[in-house]
Amino acid sequence: MRLKDFHRIDMRADPKTGLFAIFALHDLTLGPALGGVRRWAYPDETTALADAVHLARAMTAKNALADLPFGGGKAVVAAPGAPDGEPGPPSRPITQAELLKLGDWIQDIGGEYVAAADVGMRVDDLMVSRDRTRHLAGILPESDTGPRTALGVFGGIEVIAKRLGFADLAGVRVAVQGLGKVGMPLAELLRDAGVVLTVADIDQAKTTAAAERLGATTAAVDDVLAADVDIVSPCALGGAITSAVAETIRAGGIAGAANNQLAEPCVAAILKRRDVLFAPDYAINAGGVISAGLEYLRSDQFDAYVGQIGPRLERILDEAKATGKTEYEVAESMAKARVARAA
Ligand code: NAD
Repeated sequence: MRLKDFHRIDMRADPKTGLFAIFALHDLTLGPALGGVRRWAYPDETTALADAVHLARAMTAKNALADLPFGGGKAVVAAPGAPDGEPGPPSRPITQAELLKLGDWIQDIGGEYVAAADVGMRVDDLMVSRDRTRHLAGILPESDTGPRTALGVFGGIEVIAKRLGFADLAGVRVAVQGLGKVGMPLAELLRDAGVVLTVADIDQAKTTAAAERLGATTAAVDDVLAADVDIVSPCALGGAITSAVAETIRAGGIAGAANNQLAEPCVAAILKRRDVLFAPDYAINAGGVISAGLEYLRSDQFDAYVGQIGPRLERILDEAKATGKTEYEVAESMAKARVARAA
């Protein structure tokens, strides 16, 4: 685990409540570290630390690429889990005492870390911590991050469609994998734009609802990424684009909300070889963090920031084409360049 480039790593334990949390503040060149609090059952502290470190580094890149005045950070709260010690969702909800202690710790970090909700933490949970800290973001009802993330992803899909030769989205065939907090509002936006929709979710009720409400065709969960469509939009879990998917995908482009869509680094090269355009996930799924960050700054510039997602993707695609690099490599170097300029 590389830790030397971290601004601060703060591990805290409270014997009274049993709360254990790690605050990983990666790079604060652009501003305070903004990132979610993840609550998860980890087999041990080292695994929790590795997760916090990996996620915090990713937030530095995401916030930098989105042009936000924030650095990258993440907090993980180690929760009790399954008796076999396997990592997974917490076995019980977080208590009020734990949430208040978490608030104390966030406040104690003194504004270097701004916390939002992530996997395993609800906005309602943070509303309890709010009694103890003001360094929270994405907690107002209008900051509902799902629809706001969907807006940016929609912008990314528009750009990919244009590159594939479509004048607009009317009649473009898009397959959406995962109909959750982002996938469903995204599917609605796409339907309104005249897209021919294919959808799939492991939750059959969501798939049926989308088919009925949005007039979408349904696909089997295992087949949706190989559907005969123009664009696929992975909006479920990370790692969906494996080497096998990349070798067989029929769509001309990929643009979705899921974090870390590429199962392994070599997948980007396979997509490149097969001329499949890829919108780097963190370049187009930043709507949620933009919303949270601007709420914290009391800024009303959300539309301006999200409006930059499409043009930024255009620049990424142009540079990838001109240099032969993958879209991921270009996005990463753009994010690093912004931090370096500011430094
Ligand atoms: P969610 O849990 O609300 O929705 C995920 C959906 O995917 C669920 O409906 C689930 O049933 C479905 N699903 C899971 N595995 C599937 C599979 N193999 N095939 C088809 N469907 C499957 O999550 P969300 O908030 O909508 O986030 C979706 C993705 O976008 C995640 O990867 C998340 O990290 C990422 N993301 C979310 C936000 C946000 O604001 N919510 C912001 C940035 C990135």
